[in-house]
Amino acid sequence: MDESTNLLRSVLDNLKTEVKDDAYSELFADLSKVHKTERGFIFVVVKNALIKFRLEQFYLNRMNEILNTLTETKMMFKFILEEDIEQSKGVFKDDPQETKRMREISLRPLKPEYTFNNFVIGTSNRFAASQALQIAESPYAVLNPLYIFGEVGLGKTHLMTAIGHFVLDNDINKNVVYTTAQQFTEDYFYYTNIPKGKAEIETFYNYYRSADVLLVDDIQFLDGKASTQEEFFKVFDYLHSHNKQIVLTSDRPAKSLKNMMSRLVTRFSWGLAVEIGAPDDALRLGILKKKLKSFVSNPELVEEDALIEISSIFTVNIRELEGALKRFISYCVSFDLPFNKENVKVALDGILPDDNKEEASDDAEMEKIKSIVAKYFGISTSDLSSSSRKNKIAYARHVFVYLVKTKHDTPLTTIGKALGNRDHATIAHSFQKIKDLLISNPLTKQDIDNLNKLIE
Ligand code: ADP
Ligand code: MG
Repeated sequence: MDESTNLLRSVLDNLKTEVKDDAYSELFADLSKVHKTERGFIFVVVKNALIKFRLEQFYLNRMNEILNTLTETKMMFKFILEEDIEQSKGVFKDDPQETKRMREISLRPLKPEYTFNNFVIGTSNRFAASQALQIAESPYAVLNPLYIFGEVGLGKTHLMTAIGHFVLDNDINKNVVYTTAQQFTEDYFYYTNIPKGKAEIETFYNYYRSADVLLVDDIQFLDGKASTQEEFFKVFDYLHSHNKQIVLTSDRPAKSLKNMMSRLVTRFSWGLAVEIGAPDDALRLGILKKKLKSFVSNPELVEEDALIEISSIFTVNIRELEGALKRFISYCVSFDLPFNKENVKVALDGILPDDNKEEASDDAEMEKIKSIVAKYFGISTSDLSSSSRKNKIAYARHVFVYLVKTKHDTPLTTIGKALGNRDHATIAHSFQKIKDLLISNPLTKQDIDNLNKLIE
């Protein structure tokens, strides 16, 4: 068995524990054949279109997630129908040397979860999404290039990648090339700087010119890079004149790219420019609900109020919004707390937007509490920040965390810094530990009461 077949086997074995038996035997039992592995995709043969559809809708994301825990190389599954294999021809030439070199720059699979299905539509991205979908459905037509712009973390890469998936899902023989402007630049310098010279630069051109759909992320990176712009210009003109689809993303409108050659700026506006704006309340909540399904197996346990709370805190960047949700979930899971509104602020402590402002006054107060706690337990203040795990010292440390947190609501990361740079999770653990002891152990209650008096 080759490596990708092995990987498929392991992923299915994992999945078997998560999927109901009858669903498993219906959808997965016949999956065993890998047609080919190419450009980071493992093409898995599927019997019929209905099964393919259901796998893609409900299980592909999960399969790719598992896959990525099993391999170092970024890879993903694509499903291919038996009947389509006949017509399939490889993108690579047979020359093994050529194949090897091409692979070096071609292992840039599209992120599996960045599909249209997973893209939530709202006021701020509706137009961009509808145009992207239109291009994905019928590329190579009039809107060329599609230029997607907007602030960081608002979904540009996601939307661009979705076009790539859509095109490939309709026809796996299409050559979808995804690159960032930075990678494009690196490729160019790499292939012009190897001794063989001319032959090598051909590899570079062939790679980019063979694209049916070229996706270039963060084009603003080319700003001020004259020689790379020149190369990109050639690639652009070649593809455009051969009616190949080009999609670009940027953090600003084309005309604001100050150090971009005007020939390029003009070309960027040949097609259509769409902006993605800041998400409104409804969209942020919608995105949280959508992501939740892929983060936890029983999303109904998460209270809507908690999601509303998170979405009201992180308003400008969807990546941060998503990060906050992940953190909230893993916090509640590790301390076995309910997923409710009350736990949002505790879990997100340290990454809340206004956390940094209060740090200065926190520091003085923490020093005071530190010395009171140290004295009370007969240890030194440096013991508290040390790495010692002696029972008494560790206990004093937990107590210190609890006191600071309850008295001043100091962010856990700030407390961590005051304790010799301990991380958020460690401090959270200390806090929870004392909370538990307060219920189970009267001595702890006494300690806390005594210390509270001393501090006041
Ligand atoms: P950008 O390229 O604009 O910086 P990304 O495309 O990387 O932003 O998006 C950041 C994160 O936010 C990604 O995880 C992406 O999936 C998510 N995201 C952005 N917009 C949406 C949306 N409309 N629906 C679902 N997820 C989104
Ligand atoms: Mg991006």
